[in-house]
Amino acid sequence: MKAMILSQVQPMDKNAHPLKLVDMPIPEPAENEILIRVSACGVCHTELDEIEGRTSPPTLPVVLGHQVVGRVEMVGTGVNRHKPGDRVGVAWIYSSCQNCVFCQSGQENLCPEFQATGRDVNGGYGEYMVVGQDFAFSIPDTFSDSEAAPLLCAGAIGYRSLKLCDMSDGQDLGLTGFGASGHLVMKLARYIYPKSRVFVFARSPQERDFAISLGAVWAGDTLDESPRRLHAIIDTTPVWMPVVEALKNLQPGGRLVINAIRKEDMDKEYLLNIDYPTHLWLEKEIKSVANVTRADVSEFLDLAARIPIKPEYQEYALEDANQALIELKQRKIRGAKVLIID
Ligand SMILES: [Zn+2]
Ligand SMILES: [Zn+2]
Repeated sequence: MKAMILSQVQPMDKNAHPLKLVDMPIPEPAENEILIRVSACGVCHTELDEIEGRTSPPTLPVVLGHQVVGRVEMVGTGVNRHKPGDRVGVAWIYSSCQNCVFCQSGQENLCPEFQATGRDVNGGYGEYMVVGQDFAFSIPDTFSDSEAAPLLCAGAIGYRSLKLCDMSDGQDLGLTGFGASGHLVMKLARYIYPKSRVFVFARSPQERDFAISLGAVWAGDTLDESPRRLHAIIDTTPVWMPVVEALKNLQPGGRLVINAIRKEDMDKEYLLNIDYPTHLWLEKEIKSVANVTRADVSEFLDLAARIPIKPEYQEYALEDANQALIELKQRKIRGAKVLIID
């Protein structure tokens, strides 16, 4: 099978083509596993974190990609949830132990044995992949393969971030950064909290226009002060400046939710601008979002089909994965990037 593999962790500015096209054996499904013939795989900023070593794959080479849509090609023994031909998706959660205190309390995203698709095991930047039957999701018919792929990460984690905001309808929400996750969270928030107003902070005028076109009541620069103090702000940027700048826009008791697996360190010194009375005093909180649970993914897919949420996306051939990653790195973003595998 064809796959784009990562063999070495290094910065993208040292090597703009970190992934290589190879021919490798089709994996075989073990007991309780299914083999998926991949048709689309979303490109996520986390792939840059893996390539550049902020969250390194434990073994190399590895096939990246954790927003996978395809059809069941073959099932292993004991599989009863899926049959050949079914359309399924795989998300960032590849497996968890199911026995620890976290797994037993609905927090399998925090399991110490959490395995991530396309980092700890081969993912969807290839023609086939295997996954445990309990970790593959049915995709609602509403969505095409390319529409469904970005929902599996940006959407599901965006949904988790929104849950962690602890909002009620009518409270004001901020979004700092407006890429794939931001635009999905906006649509979700407007559905779940129809009386809430959404304020967007984004560097580029294009992103700000995009936000307004999707229903933001206000869109400003990352450094701007919002016209109102906000109940919660979700940060989907890869850097630190927006964290500090968002905190000043929170109301007392407000919460900043950081939706990033790792932050880049290039502007880390910006944190020294934190002024306790301006940014943290009055019980403001900062909370990170880690991984996703299967419930997050299924609940989100159901919601997305009902709303419906159809992500904006750009398609690339599997072979052009490096190009998609470079554009993501350079923040040439309008909606999500999806690799098409045929
Ligand atoms: Zn992702
Ligand atoms: Zn566990």
